[in-house]
Amino acid sequence: MEFDLIARIRDRAASRGDVVLGIGDDAALLQPPAGTLLVVAMDTLNSGVHFPPETAPADIGWKALAVNLSDLAAMGALPAWCTLSLSLPDADATFVDGFLDGFLALAAQHDVALVGGDTTRGPLSVCVTVHGLVEPGMAMCRDGARVGDDIWVSGSLGDAAAALAQWKSNGDVDAALRARLDRPTPRVALGRALRGIASACIDVSDGLLADLGHVCSASGVGALVDVDALPASDALRATFDSEPRRQLQATGGDDYELCFSAPAAAQAAVLAGALQAGVAVTRIGRLDARGGVATLTSAGADWRAPTPGWQHFAA
Ligand code: ADP
Ligand code: MG
Repeated sequence: MEFDLIARIRDRAASRGDVVLGIGDDAALLQPPAGTLLVVAMDTLNSGVHFPPETAPADIGWKALAVNLSDLAAMGALPAWCTLSLSLPDADATFVDGFLDGFLALAAQHDVALVGGDTTRGPLSVCVTVHGLVEPGMAMCRDGARVGDDIWVSGSLGDAAAALAQWKSNGDVDAALRARLDRPTPRVALGRALRGIASACIDVSDGLLADLGHVCSASGVGALVDVDALPASDALRATFDSEPRRQLQATGGDDYELCFSAPAAAQAAVLAGALQAGVAVTRIGRLDARGGVATLTSAGADWRAPTPGWQHFAA
């Protein structure tokens, strides 16, 4: 059964010049340029956990690759290749065709070649590994943040969590919010532009405060964030009042924006890099020596998130 599916995948997967051998043998052969580091990331999407079960196959395909490219973006890496492990309840060619529509559309945008994978029977689950390239010493790591650095975030926050909240309450889901949940945009060009400028970077997958907390613990710094400075989309402003909106922006997962730190002296370079990448960036706070992530409103009042963010093994 899976041979037909694999043939469908192979027939549609685009290649690149540095793929010496792609889908069809026991393993792929890839030629990284001399002197570059290989950057590898993997993320799994499980039905009902990482996407609502009725999500369109094309959206599942898009998202499975997008969340992985987002990890490469956060490192400042240039995506090159990927592999795809598909677990399917049955040999559903219609599902695979739809899945590939989304997956390969995003792969084409970033010139990523699908070079192999695995196809098995089981509950619907998609696991993707992406391989990217970065110059030695240029990757943006979580441990590079310094006291006094500005904290920045790209795009807008909270839309994906807002869509999920609307879906869970069985209400109408705003189309613009739903698009952010189903088809996140990995900030690859921004990640590339921030090499040598940002001191640390992470992609916002579990929620801003949780992910910024990872940077703070890795770097041994604290953060002070102005919750009212967090960027909101027009769609979010139109659908949620200020307090629930703050919560969605500060703790909602699945945004796949980049949160990064940079010295105050690098402000102009950050803005120029964002302009070049075609993405808005917003300064949301500053790193300090106190430890942990503190949040204030623009009026200076303490603000506390009800939950820090998505926890994979929470009850
Ligand atoms: P093996 O038994 O050697 O693992 P498979 O039958 O699993 O072989 O895979 C055959 C070829 O098809 C391999 O090159 C593998 O990388 C590729 N392949 C299998 N499943 C997928 C998939 N979902 N996406 C891309 N390539 C796949
Ligand atoms: Mg196999």
